[in-house]
Amino acid sequence: MTSSSPDLLITSSFETVRRKIARACRIAGRDAAEVTLVAVTKTQPDEALDAALAADQRVFGENRVQEARSHWTSRRGTPGLELRLIGPLQTNKVADAVALFDVIETVDRPKLVEVLATEAVKTARDLRVLVQVNTGAEPQKAGVLPEEADALIAQARAVGLTVEGLMCIPPADEAPGLHFALLRKIARRNGLTVLSMGMSGDYEIAIRFGATHVRVGSALFGDRKPAEIHPKD
Ligand SMILES: *Cc1c(COP(=O)(O)O)cnc(C)c1O
Repeated sequence: MTSSSPDLLITSSFETVRRKIARACRIAGRDAAEVTLVAVTKTQPDEALDAALAADQRVFGENRVQEARSHWTSRRGTPGLELRLIGPLQTNKVADAVALFDVIETVDRPKLVEVLATEAVKTARDLRVLVQVNTGAEPQKAGVLPEEADALIAQARAVGLTVEGLMCIPPADEAPGLHFALLRKIARRNGLTVLSMGMSGDYEIAIRFGATHVRVGSALFGDRKPAEIHPKD
């Protein structure tokens, strides 16, 4: 193992995670094509990005607009590339985010909806978004509260954003299943089909609860430094 090059390790990690996704789908009676692996490249070096691209990965998640730009500007032309913002978005970074990302998964407040809608008009973009729900109502965590989600979804639709679905990050110290089920319930009553839920530790569980997008970082690329796991933006 220790003599393997980093990209060989990454290649085999992709094989392992894809195999586990396929198995989780089989167990859940779902078609594996319903689940998209979003490779989370925050804090990763360029070699990791290139190894992922070489392993035919095309859908990527990033937490921070600035880092995403340095990661992806030179690779933006890769055929089939899809970039998804999965970290908090400040309104003063909306223009940069809209310019770079295909999908913004972290829409969580009325003001952000307004600014995104203005930017979408200005740039003549059809803006694909997810609404992030704070399923655990954790004070320190981003996301709209579950009871305010319907109104935010309605607002985003009313101003012309393409709301594709919902995203959540369950509390670290709780079993995630109830949170995934809550997200699915809010999605269903709003007629939404995309569910971005599940990370390295729980993506197989999330698939059981209907995840269509699993966001996986460390299981593909190895552990990040602890201080970088929850970067502040
Ligand atoms: C970092 C991050 C992930 C990936 O986390 P891992 O546990 O490394 O798979 C997924 N989603 C979000 C929002 C993240 O910030």
